[in-house]
Amino acid sequence: MMQHGADLHITDLQGKTAMHHAVMGGNIVAVHYLWETGMFRFSDTDMYRVTPLHLAASTGNTEMVRYLLREQRCAVEAVDQQGATSLHVAAERGSVEVCWILLQRTGCRMLHERNHSGLTPLDLSGQGKTFRHQQLTMLLNRYINEPRDHKPRDSNILYYWTLFFPTLGGAAILLIASMLGSYGGIVCCLLFPWLARSIFSQYHRITTYQRLPNPIYLGTLIAGLFHSLLCFYEQIVPSLWPTSPLIQVSVVHFLLVFGLFCKVLIHNPGKLERADADPRFSCIADLVVQNQSPQRFCPYCELFLPDFTKHCKLCDLCIRDYDHHCLFLNRCIGQGNHRLFLIFILSMVIAHLLFVATAIAYLLDKIPPGGRSLSRWLALLGGEFWVAVLMSLNALTLLWEVWLLREQCDAVATGTTTYFRLGGNSAHQRSLRQRWVTVIMFLLEGGRRVSGGQTGEGKTPTDI
Ligand SMILES: [Zn+2]
Ligand SMILES: [Zn+2]
Repeated sequence: MMQHGADLHITDLQGKTAMHHAVMGGNIVAVHYLWETGMFRFSDTDMYRVTPLHLAASTGNTEMVRYLLREQRCAVEAVDQQGATSLHVAAERGSVEVCWILLQRTGCRMLHERNHSGLTPLDLSGQGKTFRHQQLTMLLNRYINEPRDHKPRDSNILYYWTLFFPTLGGAAILLIASMLGSYGGIVCCLLFPWLARSIFSQYHRITTYQRLPNPIYLGTLIAGLFHSLLCFYEQIVPSLWPTSPLIQVSVVHFLLVFGLFCKVLIHNPGKLERADADPRFSCIADLVVQNQSPQRFCPYCELFLPDFTKHCKLCDLCIRDYDHHCLFLNRCIGQGNHRLFLIFILSMVIAHLLFVATAIAYLLDKIPPGGRSLSRWLALLGGEFWVAVLMSLNALTLLWEVWLLREQCDAVATGTTTYFRLGGNSAHQRSLRQRWVTVIMFLLEGGRRVSGGQTGEGKTPTDI
């Protein structure tokens, strides 16, 4: 519309500009584009002295609020005609997440601001009847007596509880099962599906106002490693050691897996630095002139994205050669750690194979000679439920990892990533031998140039 001569000076009957409406619509790219024209300021108000920050707070759009607070674009203490700050507006709407962002940014002094009716944000929140208002009232009550310059910080208690829940839950079930003797197997069969359901039904973010990335899947991986190693060293190794050379290989390999796990957790996944942003564009107008997608501008990092780069909302980073956000590692897989990730998965496949093989050898060793009837098998599984349960879980994980590895190798062999992969490009025409060579060279040398598939312009950003 701007290219076709739309008049940017037009305001509506309430004096709202195009920028006000872009803020209400939640389109950060449009807001940034309008600001670039130099015809709008973030301090512009309508005839009721409502600022863009008031509007963002009223819609509950946390990303827009963060954008408007960045680089002090909007004054947090600005009041409208009724003397309400943006915190008053958010509190009246019961928007817990927006109130939390505003409090973190400004400190507790905003809690004591009164509008022209003499009401504080806490008063307004207390007048609301919804669950969110009740949740917000509890939150604001917690900070009302804090010093005015105190800035609340995220609490990590729930994060770490969630992280270690699978490990502790699994340990509790195994402990209960061990106390019930031969009924332990039945208890495991009942409680492990419940544990799995409570883990895999969770969202990508912890459902509190802090909206932290949910570490439950990383906790599941840690639980799997912890319980498998514990079972391996406590139960399996003493029974077989040192009769089987397989055990000695396993010890070395589990150490390797642990080292790779630690490394993949701390390695830079390929964060897009400001210096690496696409140099062809310096403003959104450049995108419009060159007929490029607005998605090339990341409104969260405020960077112009090169090809095959995507912003991950959970990591809050733009990732080069983005592959996927791995929930089990709670971080992205991209240019910086793709090779490391593949090697880690390969090592995990081998570790699971070793565990399953040694567990089968252990269970076979426990069967009395000449007596392999069904009833003896059931008695064996009931008595050796610890090894039997972990063997089953490791075997299921192994199947999933083989599928994952196949998908990953397919993407690497075709010169793309699993996110940007699209059938039909020429790389898919490579022979099987060429594809294997590409994968092996990638694993050995690491460097590669992602070129297949799409650049991401036609893809819908994954909202996680
Ligand atoms: Zn970004
Ligand atoms: Zn991520």
